[in-house]
Amino acid sequence: MDRHAPLKVVVLGGGTAGWMTAASLAKLLPDRASVDLIESEDIGIIGVGEATLPHIRGFVERLGIREAEFMKATHATYKLGIDFRDFGRIGESYIHPFGSFGEELAGVGFHHYWLELQRRGEAAPLGEYSMCVAAALANRFQPPSQDLSLSSTYGYAYQFDATLFGPFMRQFGQSVGVTRHEGLVTNVERDGDTGNVTALLLNDGRRIEGDLFVDCSGFRSLLLGQELDEEWEDWSHWLPCDRAAAMPCTHATEDIRPYTTATAMPAGWRWQIPLQHRMGNGYVFSSAFTDEDAACEAIRSAAEGEPLADPRVLRFRPGRRRRSWSHNVVGVGLASGFLEPLESTSIYLAQMAITYLIELFPEPGGIEPADRDAFNQLVDMEYDRVRDFLILHYHATTRDDSEFWNHVRTMTVPDSLGDKLELWRKTGRIEKYSDGLFFDASWIAVYVGQGLLPQRHDSRTGMVDPERLKAAAERLRREIASEVSRMPGHREYLERETSRL
Ligand code: FAD
Repeated sequence: MDRHAPLKVVVLGGGTAGWMTAASLAKLLPDRASVDLIESEDIGIIGVGEATLPHIRGFVERLGIREAEFMKATHATYKLGIDFRDFGRIGESYIHPFGSFGEELAGVGFHHYWLELQRRGEAAPLGEYSMCVAAALANRFQPPSQDLSLSSTYGYAYQFDATLFGPFMRQFGQSVGVTRHEGLVTNVERDGDTGNVTALLLNDGRRIEGDLFVDCSGFRSLLLGQELDEEWEDWSHWLPCDRAAAMPCTHATEDIRPYTTATAMPAGWRWQIPLQHRMGNGYVFSSAFTDEDAACEAIRSAAEGEPLADPRVLRFRPGRRRRSWSHNVVGVGLASGFLEPLESTSIYLAQMAITYLIELFPEPGGIEPADRDAFNQLVDMEYDRVRDFLILHYHATTRDDSEFWNHVRTMTVPDSLGDKLELWRKTGRIEKYSDGLFFDASWIAVYVGQGLLPQRHDSRTGMVDPERLKAAAERLRREIASEVSRMPGHREYLERETSRL
């Protein structure tokens, strides 16, 4: 590598992961990276992946993209959380919100006070103490304002059309200096001594050289998986879903929900993701418990609007490459691993890999093995956190109405999740960490939402006068309801924002 020239980065793949990576490197490291991207229209992109997490807002903002412009281009809607139906028990539902339930008081988490009120038979449903849940259920939306005085934090994400997000990022990426090559990579050149990749060869004879290669080739994992043979860690014994039947529909109602819906099904679950112009639908299922024809039929009968296409079956394997960065190849997106979309985490995982890559980006002169190791540890941590949280949704159930639910209810879970469950059951506490995904409110939403209450909670809640506690909780609930009643409807807010452009 030349010690003065920018590092020559070649991104293989022009899906969501590829264009997010290329655009970020070109925009945020303009002096340190020159970026080429290769994509093949013959192969195309996966074309699903529509629900996101609040972190995506930071991504859009950091690149200097205007939210309204991005939302208009991708037909996006706002998302306040996920409505889980029939997971703990058929007929029950709860929202996992992008915000807190109440607020910590005197060092004790709000949920402990809620558990105390619950013990006394004086608690309203937990969701009524969350601004996000209340707004979602009322189909209302407005961004969190600075002067919001309530003791319940509030965040949001987007739901966008995956087939429009890629082209939007492509246009942006090219505007900040990414060089795009259309073509099919058929061969990979490697250095005989180091094993590093030196160039990618296209079917028409072109040769694209690079110092660092980012594999965003999707499930093919052309560089990390096929060329470097990086070991695959399979998690299907914990996450048995390995297929999805996706089918877009028209909206069935005038309202557009500001949240994603996940409804448990006999062999998995189905999503509903509202976009401006249509509703994304899909049944994520386990082929060990149902077949593709039955799954397609199930999504046809469950979908509420008019179908806009026939169901399309996608196949996947849950798990990840043991190392996401090997030699001079970094895997981002599906090329590095996949966890089913129950909590809309894939794009987040790609975003985090990009963030870590930027932080640990090689200096001129070569890749520092310590940086590569640090990257791999961070990516592992992110995947492990998501994995445990996903498994919880299946395992914490009382459902015994199908073989699938009997299997996930009784299966052995990873030790890391077993420890978290034990801590919650015995003490009502959530394991503390400051990095990665899913903090207290997320775990509490699922535990309580799926009927898993702890044996005890923080005894300091007993030090608060019971009448004052009851009055304070009631005040919070009323304030939230009143604040939400002043918000515009989700559709109204969307139309107002996007028509301003
Ligand atoms: P792809 O979109 O597959 O892109 C691969 C790229 O590599 C393409 O441009 C292709 O042309 C190129 N390529 C491959 N081989 C070659 C070659 N030989 N030569 C040249 N180019 C090549 N994520 C979420 O965050 N939220 C969700 O709600 C969500 N839902 C999902 C539902 C399902 C059923 C599935 C399967 C995934 C879902 N995901 C979701 C994941 C999400 O779709 C992906 O993380 C995201 O689209 C990134 O995909 P990608 O860019 O890695 O791969």
